[in-house]
Amino acid sequence: MKKREALEKFVEQLKNKKMFSSILISNDNQETLNDFANNLSRTIFCENLGIEKDSCDNCKRFENKSLSNFVVLGDGSLAINKNDVVELMQKFSLTTNEVNKFKVYVLSNAENLKNESANSLLKFIEEPPENTIAILLTKNKSQVLPTIKSRCKLIVLENENQDESPKNIIEELLEKDKNSILLANAELKKIDKSELIAMLEVAYNRTIIKKYLNLAEATLQLINDLKFTFQTNLAIDVFLIHISEVV
Ligand SMILES: [Zn+2]
Repeated sequence: MKKREALEKFVEQLKNKKMFSSILISNDNQETLNDFANNLSRTIFCENLGIEKDSCDNCKRFENKSLSNFVVLGDGSLAINKNDVVELMQKFSLTTNEVNKFKVYVLSNAENLKNESANSLLKFIEEPPENTIAILLTKNKSQVLPTIKSRCKLIVLENENQDESPKNIIEELLEKDKNSILLANAELKKIDKSELIAMLEVAYNRTIIKKYLNLAEATLQLINDLKFTFQTNLAIDVFLIHISEVV
């Protein structure tokens, strides 16, 4: 299933108040899994059930990591330890005073849930506290304990081939004239930051390092600035001025 399609399906279920309480998401790439789990969790908390991040309070709090009813366990490689599972269960069994009624936890490597921690989790998955949603991720679904698998709704995420997707805004920009490049700045600033980073990464890998090597450094700089600085508008201006001079 494509990511977008899966998210739309979950939104439909949330609207109908029929959301699965345990979901197992499978894909061979941990980053794809993490991104998807993040986006799904944020959507669950979003006051407007928005697939794209919007400006509601919960989306903001999700981005600031200040939602106490959202927990991620495991780092995608190490085994998940029993104490962490127990702590999670205790925390989620308490009633919440959060505005949003959902509690969501992500287990980033379900195949590493070994017997002891798996046992403590099983009952929790079977009889979750009200409005608790478990999102289990796995790079290898055949290694997830059958007892866990059987209690979850399995979603296998497709790998969406970057080469098949249409040119994104950044790649289109590279073919434009100087003025159009500079004029794109308002448009770029409106794009959600994480989305812009993703577009730049695709443009970098697919087009820039192949056809516009002289822009490689500026592109990496912009990606870096978007990730780690607050002066993102300035960084976008600098990037556009640079490419308008080079392209
Ligand atoms: Zn929102």
